[in-house]
Amino acid sequence: MSKGVDVSYLSIDRLSARYGSLDVLSDISLSVEKGEVVALIGPSGSGKSTLLRAFVGLLKPYGGTVRLAGNTLDYADAASLRRARDRFAIVFQQYNLFQNMTVLRNVCIAPTLVKKRDKKDVEATALALLEKIGLGHKLHAYPDELSGGQQQRVALARALALKPDVLLLDEVTSALDPELVNEVLDAIRTLAADGMTMVIVSHEMGFVREVSSRVVFMDRGRVVEEGPPSMLDAPRTERLRDFTAKII
Ligand code: ADP
Ligand code: MG
Repeated sequence: MSKGVDVSYLSIDRLSARYGSLDVLSDISLSVEKGEVVALIGPSGSGKSTLLRAFVGLLKPYGGTVRLAGNTLDYADAASLRRARDRFAIVFQQYNLFQNMTVLRNVCIAPTLVKKRDKKDVEATALALLEKIGLGHKLHAYPDELSGGQQQRVALARALALKPDVLLLDEVTSALDPELVNEVLDAIRTLAADGMTMVIVSHEMGFVREVSSRVVFMDRGRVVEEGPPSMLDAPRTERLRDFTAKII
C-alpha cells in the first residue's frame, strides 16, 4: 500500500470488476468513516458479496481504487494484498468452524499460527471477545455441541481476534433458523456500540435501519441510491421502491 490523501477512513473510488465478460461491479464509489456501520442492500446478484470480496483481494478489480486509512490497495502487489487482508476480516453466511477444535481454539488458531502473535495475548483477547458476545461459558465446547447462532457468534469472535480495522459481514444470519437470528444481531449491535467499523450485507431491514448510519442500495453492479436509513421510507428510484416493496 502506498500513502495517499486521507479523505475517508475507507474509501472506494470507481471500483469496477468483471467475472469473465460479466460486469459485476461498475464504477462503485463509497466511503466509510471510522466507527461507522454501512449496510449494503440489494437484490440477489447485485454484486454485494463481490464488493466485499474485492476489499480483501479475493477478486481483483480492473479499475478504481480501494483506500484504507490513507493507504491504497495495490492489487498487482502480493504484499499489499496480504496487508489489506490483515486489515479486513470477513464473516460469511456459512461459518465453517473447525469441527475438531474447541471454541477457544477456533478463535485463537489464526492469530497464533498464521499471524504468529503471542499465545497468551491472543488467548486473553479471545476470552474477552467470547465473554462479550455471550459465549464465555462455551470455551471448551466443540462446534457440533452449539446451536447455529452460537456457532455464528464464534465465527464473529474468530474474525475479531484478528484485530481487523474493518469487519465485513456477508449475510451472517441468512442460514440461521429465525429464532436464532436475534442473538447474532445482538452480538453485532454490541460491536457497533463499541465503535467497530463495519460493512454489512443484510436482508434484515429492521436491523439495517437500527444499526447502520448509512444504507447503500446496489442493483446490477451499481450503487443506485445511498443515504441514511430513512431513505428506505421514501425511495427516490423505482428500483429501490420495488426492492423495499418485496422485502419489507
Ligand atoms: P450478491 O451478493 O449481491 O447476491 P454477487 O456479488 O454474489 O451478488 O454476484 C454478482 C454477480 O456476479 C452475479 O451475477 C453472480 O452470478 C456473479 N458471480 C458471482 N460469483 C461469481 C463467480 N465466481 N463466477 C462468475 N460469476 C459470478
Ligand atoms: Mg451475496
